[in-house]
Amino acid sequence: MIPGPVEFDNDVLSAVGKQTSSHVSQEFIDIFGESLEMMKKVWMCPDGQPFIMAGTGTLAMDMAGANLVEKNDRVLVISTGYFGERYADLFDRYGADYRILRAEPGRTVTPESIENELRTRKYKMLSFTHVDTSTAVKVEPQPIGELGRKYNVITILDGVCSVAGEEIRQQEWGIDVVITASQKAIGVPPGLALLVASERAMEKFRNRKSRVQNYYADWTNWLPIMQAYENRKPAYFGTPAVNLVAALNISLQQILKEGLGRRFERHKRTGMAFRSALKALGLKQVPADDCVANTLSAPYYPTGVQASEFLKEVNNAGVVLAGGLHPVFKDKYFRIGHMGKITVEDTINTVTSIETALKKCNYRFDDHAGITAAEEVLTTP
Ligand code: PMP
Repeated sequence: MIPGPVEFDNDVLSAVGKQTSSHVSQEFIDIFGESLEMMKKVWMCPDGQPFIMAGTGTLAMDMAGANLVEKNDRVLVISTGYFGERYADLFDRYGADYRILRAEPGRTVTPESIENELRTRKYKMLSFTHVDTSTAVKVEPQPIGELGRKYNVITILDGVCSVAGEEIRQQEWGIDVVITASQKAIGVPPGLALLVASERAMEKFRNRKSRVQNYYADWTNWLPIMQAYENRKPAYFGTPAVNLVAALNISLQQILKEGLGRRFERHKRTGMAFRSALKALGLKQVPADDCVANTLSAPYYPTGVQASEFLKEVNNAGVVLAGGLHPVFKDKYFRIGHMGKITVEDTINTVTSIETALKKCNYRFDDHAGITAAEEVLTTP
C-alpha cells in the first residue's frame, strides 16, 4: 500500500513473464498499436499524440521538458511539493527562464495567483503536479487548463500519481501534456514512461527553432515510431520494452472494462474511507481539506509515535506503507498509497494494520474506531 509500485493484477504479471516476441512481429505491432489507442481513451484525449517509452516517470517529465522548452523560454512551475521542485530543476537544464509559484506544504497555489502571474508576465509554458506524492496535495487541473487557453500557455500536468485514478479529461479541460509512469494507477510494473500530447503541444514542438538537446527523449526520433505502430507498421528507433508494453495492453483493457467513471468513483470512495478512518483515529493529514487526493493519504504521526517504530510494526502486521518524502518534514508523516486495483478488503486490512501498529506504539484511541469509520464509508450505497 505504498504510492507505487502498487500491487499488480495476475494477468498483467503473466504478460511480463511470457517469452519476449520480436518488436517488429505482427503480434507485437498490434499490441503496441492498440495500447496507443487505448491510452487516448484513458487520458480522454481522442486527438492527442501518445508516447510509450522504456523509462520511468521522470523520463516522461523529461520528454515534455526536452521537446517543448528552448533556451530562455519562460516557464512557470506550480510546486506543491517534491515533484514540482524536480520539474523546476529539469527545466533549468534546458535553459528555461523559469519561476516557481510555491505552495506552503499541504496547500495548493490558487488559480487566482496563477492568473496574476500569467497576466503580468508572458509565459510559454506552465507545469503542475496533479497529486504531489510527497504531500498528497491534489491540484484541480480544469481551471489551470482554462488559464492555459486564455493566456496561450502550454500546460503540462505531472499525473504520475493520478492518471487512471483521479479524474482527468485532458482534451475537454485543455491540458496540453499529461504524463505518467506505469507503476501507479496504470497498474503495470515500473519501467514505462507514458505521455499524451495535444495537437497544440505537437505544433509547438514542430515549430522549434533549435535542436532538441536530449537524444533519447527527442520526439523527432520517436514520433515516427509511435505513428508507425498506430498504423500497424513495423518501425525501429530503440528497442521497446516488449513485455511491459504487453502488460500495459492488458492493464489498459482492464481499466476500460471497469469504466473510467466507475474507476474514479472507486478511488474517490477509497480515499474517503481512509480519510474518515484516519480522522476517527485522531490523525491529522498533511493536505488541507480542500486539496486532498484520492490516490494517496499522508497522515502525521500522532505525538509520541516514532516513524521507524510505527513503520516496522505496520509491516509486522502485514502491510507495507511508505515514510514521508518531503525533505522539510519527512519524519513527521507517513504515506498510504491507494490506487490501482485496491479492494474493500485491502482498505480494511490496511486500516486494521495501522490500528495494530498504533497500539504497539502505545497510542490510545477508541477500539476499532478507524475500521468502523472506513466500513461506514465503504458500505454506504
Ligand atoms: N512525479 C510524481 C508525482 C511522482 O509521484 C513520481 C514518482 N513517485 C515521479 C514524478 C517520478 O516517477 P519515477 O519515479 O517513475 O521516475
